[in-house]
Amino acid sequence: MKRFIFTWIQPVTVAVIVAFWALAPAKWTDNPNSILIAACVTMAFVQSLEWFNERHIDWRLTRREFATDVFYVVLGFTAIDWISTHCADEPLKAAKAALHINTPWAMHLPFVVQVALVIFLIEFGQYWMHRLMHNSTPFWLTHAPHHHITQLNALKGAVGNPIELFLISLSVVALFDLPLVAVFCAGNVLTAVSSFAHANVRFDPPRWYAFFFTTVEHHSLHHSVPFEDTRCNYANSLILIDRLCGTFRHGEAAVVGQDERKRLSIREQFAYPFMPLIAMIRARQSQVMDLS
Ligand SMILES: [Zn+2]
Ligand SMILES: [Zn+2]
Repeated sequence: MKRFIFTWIQPVTVAVIVAFWALAPAKWTDNPNSILIAACVTMAFVQSLEWFNERHIDWRLTRREFATDVFYVVLGFTAIDWISTHCADEPLKAAKAALHINTPWAMHLPFVVQVALVIFLIEFGQYWMHRLMHNSTPFWLTHAPHHHITQLNALKGAVGNPIELFLISLSVVALFDLPLVAVFCAGNVLTAVSSFAHANVRFDPPRWYAFFFTTVEHHSLHHSVPFEDTRCNYANSLILIDRLCGTFRHGEAAVVGQDERKRLSIREQFAYPFMPLIAMIRARQSQVMDLS
C-alpha cells in the first residue's frame, strides 16, 4: 500500500492541481490570493510527506533548517514577488501594449494546453538562466548559496540569494494573452513538482512521470558536491528540457553541498555574491596599512 501511494502521489497531485484550477468557481480562481493559498497548501502537503517515507536520515528537517526555509518562502511571496512584478512583468506588459504584441490564439487553446504552454515558457527560460549560472562566474556567485544547502527538503527550492531568486523568476509569460487561471494553475504545478524534487521523500514514480518531470533523484544529482557534477539536470520541474538539450544525467546523490559542505547562514547567503569584492577591498586596505 505504501509503495503504491509513493509511486502515484506525484502524478496524482499534479492531476488534482490541474483539476482544481479547471473546475474551481471563478470567484476563487480570480482572487489573486488563491495562488498564494494553493501554493502554501501544496508545499505544506509535500513537506508533511517527509514524516511518512524519509529518504535520508541526514536530510531530516531540524528547527533551524525549517526556520530558514520558511524565511525564504515568505521572502519569495513578498519582496521577490514585488520586485519581479514591478521590475519585470509590468514593463514587459507595457512593451507588449506599445509594440501591439497580441496572441489571441492563446486565449482559445484548451485549458490544459494553456497550462502546458505557461509551464514550458517558464521552465525554458529558467533552464537557460540556470545553465548560465553554472557557466558564468558572476551568475554562479548569485546561485552558489542554493548549492551550499547541505540537505534537501520540500521547501529548499525557495532558498537562495535574493539576486538569484529574482533572476530565476524572470519569464516571458507576460507577453502572451492568457487567462489568469491558467497562469495560476501552471504556477501551482511548478510549485508541486519543485517541492517534490527537493523533498526528503523516497518516491518511486512511474517512468513516464520521471521522463517529463524533475524528480528528487535528478535534482539531488544536480546538488552533488563536486562542482562539475552539478552541471546537469538544470530544469527545475520539466526534466524533458534537459533530455532535449543534452544535459540530462541519470543517478542520484545522497551527500549534497558545495566546497567543504559549509552550511551558510542567511546573512552569508545574502552577502555571498559580494564576497570577492569584499575580499579585494580588504586586501587593498591591508596593503595600504603595510605601506604606511
Ligand atoms: Zn544549480
Ligand atoms: Zn535545488
